[in-house]
Amino acid sequence: MQDKRAHTGEHIFFRSLSKVVPEVSLDKISIKEEKNALYIKYSGDLSWDKLLEAEKLTNMIISENRKVIVHNSKKDDVITKFPDIRIKLDRIQTEEVRIIEVENYDFAACSGDHVDSTKEIDFFLLTKVNKTGEDSYRLEFEVAEKAKEESLKLSKIALASMEILQSAPENVERTILNILKDNERYRQNIAEFSQKSFESICPKDISGTKLYFETLKGLDRKLVIKRAGELLEQSKAFLVLFLIDEGIFVVCGRSLDINYDMRTLLNSILAKFGGRGGGRENFAQGGGSLSDNYETIIKEIEKEVEKIVSSLV
Ligand SMILES: [Zn+2]
Repeated sequence: MQDKRAHTGEHIFFRSLSKVVPEVSLDKISIKEEKNALYIKYSGDLSWDKLLEAEKLTNMIISENRKVIVHNSKKDDVITKFPDIRIKLDRIQTEEVRIIEVENYDFAACSGDHVDSTKEIDFFLLTKVNKTGEDSYRLEFEVAEKAKEESLKLSKIALASMEILQSAPENVERTILNILKDNERYRQNIAEFSQKSFESICPKDISGTKLYFETLKGLDRKLVIKRAGELLEQSKAFLVLFLIDEGIFVVCGRSLDINYDMRTLLNSILAKFGGRGGGRENFAQGGGSLSDNYETIIKEIEKEVEKIVSSLV
C-alpha cells in the first residue's frame, strides 16, 4: 500500500467497520502486496449490508474533509491521553509513540505516510471480500480514481447480471441462490438416477462376450471403478465406461479370460478427448476434456468397440 490516500482510507474504514461491527479486530494490513488489503478477525458472519454501512460511513467522513493530525506521546501516557486509541502496546519498542488522528474520528498508533485531510482520499470502495479462515477475512479496497473506475466496472457486472437473470436489482442475490439450490437438487437427482441405472447395468451379448458399454453422469469415480472391478469378475466380460463430470473419465476393462490390451483401446479413446491414461493390460483408466459433440463421439466409439469384441477369440 504505497498510496498514502489508500493507507489513510484504511484507517477510516477500519474505524467505521468497528462502529458497525464492534467485535471486529484488525489482524494485519498488507503493505507489500500490489493490492490494498486489510485482514480482519471476526467470528460472526460479515454481511454485505454491514460492509455497505461501513463503506457509507467511510465515504461520509472522507467528504467531511476532516484534518489528519499527527500527535506524539510518551508510551506510558498514551492510553490516558488518547483513551480511544488503536494500539498494540506490546509491539511498541520506543518511548515515543506517533499517533495519527482523523479529526475526532479515529486515533491509531502508526508510523506510515498519511494525507493531510480526508477529502484527498475522494472515494473509498471495497473491491473484493474473501473469507480466509474460520474467523478471518481479507478485504480488498481501492480509493480515489481507481475506486471510481472499479465501481463503474462492478456496476456493469451487476447490470449485466440483472439482464441475464431477468431480475430486479433487489432480487438478484435471491435469484442466484435459488438457481444454485435447484442446480444442487438436479445434480443429486441425476446422481441417484445414474446410480440406480448403474446398479442394474445390462451387458450386450456379442458372440458370447458380455459387453458393458455405458455413459454415466453424476457418479463418484471410486464407486464406478469398484463396480467395474466387480463386473469383470465374471467370465467373458468386456467393459468401457464413460463418466461425465467437468471432464470425461474413461474406464476400460476385461475379464482375465480375454486376451486384449485395454491400454491401447483406452488411449485411442482418450485421444479423441485430448487426454491420456494408464493402468494394467486388463484394466485401464484416464481422463480427457469434454467436447460439445461428446455424445456423437461416444456413439462412434461404441461401434468400434463392438467390432473389437466380435473379433475376439
Ligand atoms: Zn497509518
